[in-house]
Amino acid sequence: MSPLTCADAISAAIVINGPIPVAHFMAAANRHYYATRDPLGASGDFTTAPEISQMFGELIGSWLADLWDRAGRPAAHYVELGPGRGTLAADAIRAMRRAGLEPAVHFVETSPVLRAEQAKRHPGAIFHDDVTTLSEDAPLLIVANEFFDALPVRQLVNTASGWRERHVVWADPLFVPVASGPALDDILPDHLRTAPIGSIIETSPASAAISRQLAHRLAAQRGAALIIDYGYEGPAIGDTLQAVRGHAYANPFEEPGERDLTAHVDFATLAEAARAEGAVASHFATQRDWLLRLGIAARAERLSAGAPDRSGEIATALARLTAPDQMGTLFKVLAVTSPDWPQPVGFAE
Ligand code: SAH
Repeated sequence: MSPLTCADAISAAIVINGPIPVAHFMAAANRHYYATRDPLGASGDFTTAPEISQMFGELIGSWLADLWDRAGRPAAHYVELGPGRGTLAADAIRAMRRAGLEPAVHFVETSPVLRAEQAKRHPGAIFHDDVTTLSEDAPLLIVANEFFDALPVRQLVNTASGWRERHVVWADPLFVPVASGPALDDILPDHLRTAPIGSIIETSPASAAISRQLAHRLAAQRGAALIIDYGYEGPAIGDTLQAVRGHAYANPFEEPGERDLTAHVDFATLAEAARAEGAVASHFATQRDWLLRLGIAARAERLSAGAPDRSGEIATALARLTAPDQMGTLFKVLAVTSPDWPQPVGFAE
């Protein structure tokens, strides 16, 4: 008999308990997906900014070091959420060291496969299952790149009989999304009542909760968080749940656990949650503007001057990170800081 797959486990749960919310489906699929592989790079399913160029992590390290320096150079913890292969951390820590900052290193990571990969590059790193166990004794310097997009979203869909939560049913051999459960119109804002039938809205309670927890810590023990992801300044109407496999888009309801499921990040909600806990949330910047304000063009020139044989590759990486038709404008950057820390650079006033 072949071993039970993630799809078998989810379909069995649906047969026993009935349709499951999209958020449960996404959480179960991603838990299996990340726990069983390193998805990054050319031979994997997708490539992220730190895997494209060392410039990305180095600029993040310099940004953190600049804030820390202006905050009076306190002892601090570097915290990364979902650090992937540990590449961003390696580049950022190198840049921080050059500025005299040598923080303890903490990784919030649930995947045993990726933890092993991260531990190879960062033997001293301290691992956490979630943000509740992070140290409380010193300011936190927090980075989350393409972390929030992997967290589950609930989807609500407008039907002829009102807004209902989108669930997943098992119609052997397919998983199919359907609107189900009670009508939710009474708990939604009025303007949504006139939305066309079939409209979908998303919310990510898990993301808002983490933003709140981080902001609470920053307000209490000081520090800064940098959140980078693809997303919108929301709230917006639209179904952004997507699956990627082998660098191509795929159906998010097929082969759960074998494809990377993501949804666009609602930055407005993350910022609001942070402000509600007493932290300061920056304006949103596009990844393009933020990297250019931090001097990525000059950094690329210097790297090319030092390695002329690599100048084509460096120019390609710069374009991938900043061009509007690549990662430049789809990706957004948000900084959250404690109220008594200095203003971060890279954001419009
Ligand atoms: N930041 C990295 C990797 C992005 S992939 C980069 O930019 O290359 C998403 C990362 O988040 C992976 O490391 C994955 O294992 C981790 N992750 C996903 N869901 C998580 C969760 N609920 N808690 C902690 N880590 C999670």
